[in-house]
Amino acid sequence: MDLVQHSRRQHASARHYIDKTTHSVALDESVRLIGNWFQFPMVQVNVLDMRNQHTIAAVGTPLGITPRSQSLCDPVVRGGVPATLGQIERAPGVFPQIQSYIGVPIVGREGIVVATLCLLDTVPRLFTARQIGELQTLALMVRDQLELLRRLEPTPAGTPALTAALTAAVEAGEIIPVFQPVVGLVDGTVQGLEALARWQHPTRGLLTPEAFVPLAEDSEVIIDLDLAVLQQAAAHVAGWTRRRPYLRLNANLSARHFDHPDCVDRLTDSVTDAGLSPTQVTLEVTETAALAAHPADRSFLHELRARGFRVALDDFGMGFSSIGQVLRLPIDGIKIDRQVTAASETAVGEAVFRALLGLGADLGLNTVVEGVETSAQADRARKSGAAQGQGYLYAAPLFPVDVPDCLGIIHR
Ligand code: C2E
Ligand code: MG
Ligand code: MG
Repeated sequence: MDLVQHSRRQHASARHYIDKTTHSVALDESVRLIGNWFQFPMVQVNVLDMRNQHTIAAVGTPLGITPRSQSLCDPVVRGGVPATLGQIERAPGVFPQIQSYIGVPIVGREGIVVATLCLLDTVPRLFTARQIGELQTLALMVRDQLELLRRLEPTPAGTPALTAALTAAVEAGEIIPVFQPVVGLVDGTVQGLEALARWQHPTRGLLTPEAFVPLAEDSEVIIDLDLAVLQQAAAHVAGWTRRRPYLRLNANLSARHFDHPDCVDRLTDSVTDAGLSPTQVTLEVTETAALAAHPADRSFLHELRARGFRVALDDFGMGFSSIGQVLRLPIDGIKIDRQVTAASETAVGEAVFRALLGLGADLGLNTVVEGVETSAQADRARKSGAAQGQGYLYAAPLFPVDVPDCLGIIHR
């Protein structure tokens, strides 16, 4: 790709993250926490298009637009790697009061650097490689938040041709569920199965959700996709419950459902038509989705629970919504995000991990730890009071034919 073409694509990608109608309290909160963590007075999330830097979240500095020629973050976006003040050629007169700067890149959905997370101070400071690494990890969280905001955009993105192909794939039965066991941490029994979508693509092979779920979520296709996965998964689980009556099904639900008055009926029918009862099903929603559900009263979630479904908050700990707000939601359980589990190896990460689990348990919520990959993580989850675990330590997502062999006890 030549430079002009790259710059055009970069601009187009960046524009998706600018001019959000939704101002994100969650993003503000993350930036504040990042500032506290590094003890820096100024933190910014900047999206750079061809002409300007858009500061969309900040502490210690105003939000707003700066010409790209005066942006300290320009080299980070150009180079795609972290940069500190010493590595930047500062045009004369550009923020002379800034004596410390470090910026790390944020890659957008199109695979191009669109933004930066940066720390600024008016006194000179040194950065260790470790701090730079930590900032890069935090930039991944910020990226996820930007992605969530972008998904909430009302405008349909994705090319019509791809959306049409996906619609056809749902109709042709090419979207199928695979199943990952949810294991009781105390006794090692398989207590549930999470259905995860896969696209059995006729020419490209088996595709994981990252290749098609974000696109599906940009349009109404996600509704039919979710229902197709739920119905097939329910049929499989109905068969397996004959020998294991207590087995539960977990399925993922996009925020789009909440906009349709008949969707509770459709979800219920998908389950009952397949021979399962809603009482055997937990629907997983992300916190952004749950908070988007009928803002005034969360009536959608209440309705689902009135039908017997349980509702779990997926990827908990990654959204940075106000915890108070999240915990007032009518939910039955939380699933601790796999990135929180991975971070629990560090002292701070472990404290967060334990706090989230403690909070869940105190509120009487079912707590599942996702992304359990090592016995040490399983032990930590058990000791912190989590009820269930899910992750490669126990089993990767399985094709339906392989599930019956895994329905006993998985002790790891
Ligand atoms: P999720 O619901 O949080 O699902 C867990 C993801 O973590 C799955 O990725 C799973 O394969 C992966 N995983 C499981 N154990 C481990 C582990 O030990 N380590 C690591 N690193 N990863 C692990 P997958 O299947 O790629 O799904 C990604 C996401 O796509 C899901 O995250 C869910 O948000 C979404 N998704 C999947 N199926 C559907 C669907 O039918 N409808 C909707 N709306 N979203 C879906
Ligand atoms: Mg899930
Ligand atoms: Mg999750």
